[in-house]
Amino acid sequence: MTEKTGLVIKSQSGFFTVQPDDGGEPIVSQIRGRLKQERQRTDLVAVGDRVTVKLNADGTGSIQSVAERHSALSRTRTASDQRNVQTEREQVLVANPDQVVFVFSVHNPEFSPRKLDRFLVVAEMNHLPAIICANKTDLVGPEAARAMFDMYEAIGYPVIYTSVISGEGIEALRETLRGKISVLAGSSGVGKSSLLNAIQEGLGLRVKQVSEATGKGLHTTRHVELIPLDIGGYVADTPGIRSLALFDLEPTEVDAYFREIGPLVSQCQFSDCTHTHEPKCAVRAAVEDGRVSPERYDSYLRLREEQQELEEKKY
Ligand code: GDP
Ligand code: ZN
Repeated sequence: MTEKTGLVIKSQSGFFTVQPDDGGEPIVSQIRGRLKQERQRTDLVAVGDRVTVKLNADGTGSIQSVAERHSALSRTRTASDQRNVQTEREQVLVANPDQVVFVFSVHNPEFSPRKLDRFLVVAEMNHLPAIICANKTDLVGPEAARAMFDMYEAIGYPVIYTSVISGEGIEALRETLRGKISVLAGSSGVGKSSLLNAIQEGLGLRVKQVSEATGKGLHTTRHVELIPLDIGGYVADTPGIRSLALFDLEPTEVDAYFREIGPLVSQCQFSDCTHTHEPKCAVRAAVEDGRVSPERYDSYLRLREEQQELEEKKY
């Protein structure tokens, strides 16, 4: 019996494509029967999982075991079993990502801090390192670009300034992706494909094809593919990432996922402070004296309100 270890790079309708560590051809695999019976509160196998595969005579594989995940980009869904018992079940979009890279353009389309702050909440919820890529710096010049993103560096998020036109930051972006599994997110038009092409010829097109197939709704956000980089590592494009936060986020925990706001909360006078109007609120005090930027505070307020409305609809 031949067994190989490898990485799941694609999942589609119960079939998993495994890239073996020995560099051989990808193996289309299914989950071994007995493994399937183990009741799970999470997806048994997801893109990004490390697995062992038994090779069948016909060239297909059978997944024997899955290594423990060190991280995941996921969401929880409440499901009912046959006895109508409600259970929380985790849906994994990407297992074991090393980082998420949020791509924005400084102009055309305009930078949207609200959208970035929402992305960052998703990264924090999933305990994933977030990197910001500020593209098209050639359109506004380096100073204006830095003025938009300085604040994010100040609160600890690395920012890579790039331009496909001037070549600024392409090398830095390449080094950031090297050898890692990176999840990429960003609205269409910000230059994701162009950046990926600048890093590796043809890469942008490959990623675009995958995300377009996803966008058609057939597989919605569940269809993810890891695209290999020549320099080592993989990128995954996940069009669905923006909606992730909305599923799991309680209004009362929004503050915890704004990394500069979270540590202040324990200093508010009221333990259930919403940081909107309460007296002796440490968060509003920090906004007043400039330790928390008004834009980030505004993002916090909006996201909290949205989650509040969502929760009211649930009941
Ligand atoms: P995607 O939808 O995020 O993949 O964006 P594309 O890579 O298709 O780029 C959208 C448009 O922005 C195209 O017309 C690109 O030529 C342009 N573009 C991409 N990167 C840059 C850049 O750094 N500077 C400028 N000026 N234009 C860019
Ligand atoms: Zn407060």
